[in-house]
Amino acid sequence: MPGAATTTAVGAEAARRRTFAVISHPDAGKSTITEALALHARVIGEAGAVHGKAGRRGVVSDWMAMEQQRGISITSAVLQFAYRDLVVNLLDTPGHADFSEDTYRVLTAVDCAVMLLDAAKGLEPQTLKLFEVCRARRIPVITFINKWDRPGREPLALLDEIEQRINLRPTPITWPVGTAGHFHGVVDRRTGEMTAFQRTPGGATAAVEEQLTPAEAAHRYGGDWQRAVEELDLLGLTGADHDQDTFMAATTTPVLFGAAVANFGVRQLLEVLASHAPAPQPRVDTGGTPRGVDAPFAGFVFKIQANMNKAHRDQVAFVRVCSGRFSRGMTVTHAGTGRPFATKYAQQMFGASRETIDEAYPGDVIGLVNATALGIGDTLHDGPAVAFPPLPSFTPEHFAVLRAADISTFKRFRRGVEQLDAEGVVQVLRSDRRGDQAPVLAAVGPMQFEVAVARLDAEFGVPTQLEHLPYREARRTDAASQERLLGVPDAEVLTRLRDGALLALFTSGWRMRSIADSRPGVTLEPLLAAD
Ligand code: GDP
Repeated sequence: MPGAATTTAVGAEAARRRTFAVISHPDAGKSTITEALALHARVIGEAGAVHGKAGRRGVVSDWMAMEQQRGISITSAVLQFAYRDLVVNLLDTPGHADFSEDTYRVLTAVDCAVMLLDAAKGLEPQTLKLFEVCRARRIPVITFINKWDRPGREPLALLDEIEQRINLRPTPITWPVGTAGHFHGVVDRRTGEMTAFQRTPGGATAAVEEQLTPAEAAHRYGGDWQRAVEELDLLGLTGADHDQDTFMAATTTPVLFGAAVANFGVRQLLEVLASHAPAPQPRVDTGGTPRGVDAPFAGFVFKIQANMNKAHRDQVAFVRVCSGRFSRGMTVTHAGTGRPFATKYAQQMFGASRETIDEAYPGDVIGLVNATALGIGDTLHDGPAVAFPPLPSFTPEHFAVLRAADISTFKRFRRGVEQLDAEGVVQVLRSDRRGDQAPVLAAVGPMQFEVAVARLDAEFGVPTQLEHLPYREARRTDAASQERLLGVPDAEVLTRLRDGALLALFTSGWRMRSIADSRPGVTLEPLLAAD
């Protein structure tokens, strides 16, 4: 039966997808491990698994050059490569200055996350923020402790920090032999075998790995091996072994040790992704019904990239495929409006260049160009109507009052602000005290403000001015608490346009706690709740 065969084929394609993001603090080594993962994929690829598409494109950028050399597909939002018989989609989580609500939203489109820690620093602020999103969404997390080639902290102390601070139980898959800075390799806890590493010059190629039996390792590494064995015994006693159910429930995390810069431990990470990370699962629709991966095509928009160049203004909507087979040119339905949406310009983004794609499967990401009708969280589907729940709003940490430079542009100003809010560029807050002419913009990262101001100018012809506010903390509150907080210094309550939520803003966590302590009955809830 052809129908059944097609269904099975989509299911099989979904089963070989692994879609994940790296959560880390700037400088932990995200770019380095991304390259290292791709490098390993190429190495496998040379053995015949990857069919390089080099030569078909003319534009050369860093990404492009990397793609051509390594036979992998890279987009500005997604790196796609083949590993063995898997298709791996690594979604980018922009950090540094471009850390924004988009960075959090990427985590709505992955099935798993790799938490990358610097061995000398452990859990850092940006990692913690991203981890909270994973926790709220119950995304399974694999931990990679990086930079083991440099002096760092004790492995047991790092595990302890993970367990104590974020209540995630570490279950090491590998264990380092040699202290941080004097790294000899890792023991695979499941087999007891040691993989010894030799740094290759500049880390330019995959690390040279050598398998050693426990006896050989003991002979070669003496005291360091002995110490690793003692630590492993300790771990064995505490029962810190990988358990697939608790990993999938996001209460335990498999841990690997390595040095991305020298490609140490990167192959093991790919192996863990292959054997433990989940393939795309059925996604629950707004009615609460899980939609199987082999149902007709459906996906949702998790990121919109607007081109701010006036001469070439378009908008790319990035869609995570949740079910079915996507083929370029198919006409799908925009669930919000019921209107048809033509996909002949479906593309993958390649650095500065773009290439059309012909098909995609659950777990993959497609870029739809000129998608001005689409907003963040919108569902696209084929066949009978389906809609996925809207994406959550994330906790903003930056606030600014926005005003039109010229009052005569107010109508356009209001339309523009509503549009940016609907697209999820910024969150828009209002209060009676400030009025509609001075909405407060709220953002996860300050670059969201720049994008908002530039787009109001370019698309709505409204020059605007921003006045930054000193607030840093936001909590959900209620009308009774709003009364109580009226006139309190260092605090203000506003209404979020998008969902009507009341947000209490405070200048610092410390002020927030002291205000709450002196006013019993004021309700302050975290904004990010598990759905
Ligand atoms: P990102 O900001 O997380 O993308 O970090 P990068 O990948 O740019 O790495 C930041 C710095 O750490 C760079 O200088 C890297 O060469 C270095 N780095 C990354 N991984 C390792 C590692 O395993 N060992 C050492 N010693 N340095 C590393």
